[in-house]
Amino acid sequence: MAQSKIDWLKSTIRDIPDFPKPGIIFKDLTTLLNNAEAFAYVIDVLAAKYQPMQPAYIAGIEARGFIIGSALAYKMGTGFVPVRKPGKLPYQVERQSYQLEYGSDSVEVHVDAVPDGSTVVLVDDLLATGGTALAAYQLLGKVGANVVGIGFVTELSFLSGRCKLPANVDIFSMLSF
Ligand code: AMP
Repeated sequence: MAQSKIDWLKSTIRDIPDFPKPGIIFKDLTTLLNNAEAFAYVIDVLAAKYQPMQPAYIAGIEARGFIIGSALAYKMGTGFVPVRKPGKLPYQVERQSYQLEYGSDSVEVHVDAVPDGSTVVLVDDLLATGGTALAAYQLLGKVGANVVGIGFVTELSFLSGRCKLPANVDIFSMLSF
């Protein structure tokens, strides 16, 4: 991506200091999604990136990963798999828990979300510590997915989240802060 494009795309993201708690600078992507040109550009870049991998499914992490992931699935002509917060999916689920700074959280997916061995690309809006994406990756493996790539619009590189993610999987972020 050209530097001018990177600078432009970054300028469409809004920083919200001290949200949801003091000391966190929240990267608000609603302003990017709200910008038709920026939203389309993000999806076009991700589709071009993942086209050679020929995924059968795009998986997205609740909630902003649903927005990126479903637009990407439509663009690529694949199915979409929602990775959800606990208690939301109606059918039988597999669950993966992960540690937060204080306490733990988990993600769920339907047990029959993909046929065994399906090639899947996982997406979310932002990579911070990597805990959420790692849990989603492990979870998709439990239901038989072959996750070949994990993609983000934004990465907070000072948190080194990508070091937590599997070395044999392609990790991609469009923007780095
Ligand atoms: P992590 O598990 O620490 O990598 O956190 C990633 C998840 O939390 C993603 O689903 C993000 O949407 C969200 N998140 C974490 N930190 C931020 C931040 N500073 N700004 C926006 N979203 C964030």
